[in-house]
Amino acid sequence: MSKEPENFGTPTEQQQSSAEGMSVSDTSSPAITATAAVAAAATSPTAAQLTANLWVTGGALAGAAARPFKRSIEGSTLSDDERSLHEHFMLLAIEAAQQAESLGEVPVGAVLVAPNGEIVATGYNRTITDHDASAHAEIVAMRLAGQKLQNYRLPELTLYVTLEPCCMCIMAAIHARIAKVVYGTSDPRTGACGSVFNISGDPRHNHSLEVVAHIKQEECAQQLRQFFKQRRAAQKQAKQQAKAQAALLSAESNAKS
Ligand SMILES: [Zn+2]
Repeated sequence: MSKEPENFGTPTEQQQSSAEGMSVSDTSSPAITATAAVAAAATSPTAAQLTANLWVTGGALAGAAARPFKRSIEGSTLSDDERSLHEHFMLLAIEAAQQAESLGEVPVGAVLVAPNGEIVATGYNRTITDHDASAHAEIVAMRLAGQKLQNYRLPELTLYVTLEPCCMCIMAAIHARIAKVVYGTSDPRTGACGSVFNISGDPRHNHSLEVVAHIKQEECAQQLRQFFKQRRAAQKQAKQQAKAQAALLSAESNAKS
């Protein structure tokens, strides 16, 4: 992530409409107005209509129209027991994110959990450390789980991640046949579970995963906000020091001449 998102955790109107159903709006600005979002939701075709349209244009795979797809679920709508379970694992993902932060990485953490509650793998963002643009927390965790289970498919596992997955990560989760993705806070720049893109809700995939949004949302958002705030302060201080150093060198140079 090269630019700093400024509004982590603020579900956009567009995302809210996506969470309730398939949204095919290509509006990419998170600053979409409520009015525009409502209008978009009202005019967006349903998943069935979209699939039907693609059939007409020849863009859909045979059978896609009959394939059910799972929709995003807001964490706040879950039962207390279910939400508590998700919160327990999300706290572990937040701990993993702290390890990323200690390396100077954007703090994003992920945990992969088996149906019996066993932690199969933990990952955190390591893109700078590993010189690897694909080393997002989710990818790191899925690679470890694949090695551990000796299987590139990870069916039945639930992926907990502090930040809404990007297109790369949600596609990797679909390729791995992950059963469920639970994320903490929305990503208004690259989120692919409805914030910017709706990759997870596209009915054309041959695997449908369930998405649960906004578990420990404020804690996850705060972790990221705090990181960027400190980084901005450090960058400002470094700039001021460089400026002072340049002024000193200039003064010394003038004194000599
Ligand atoms: Zn990612």
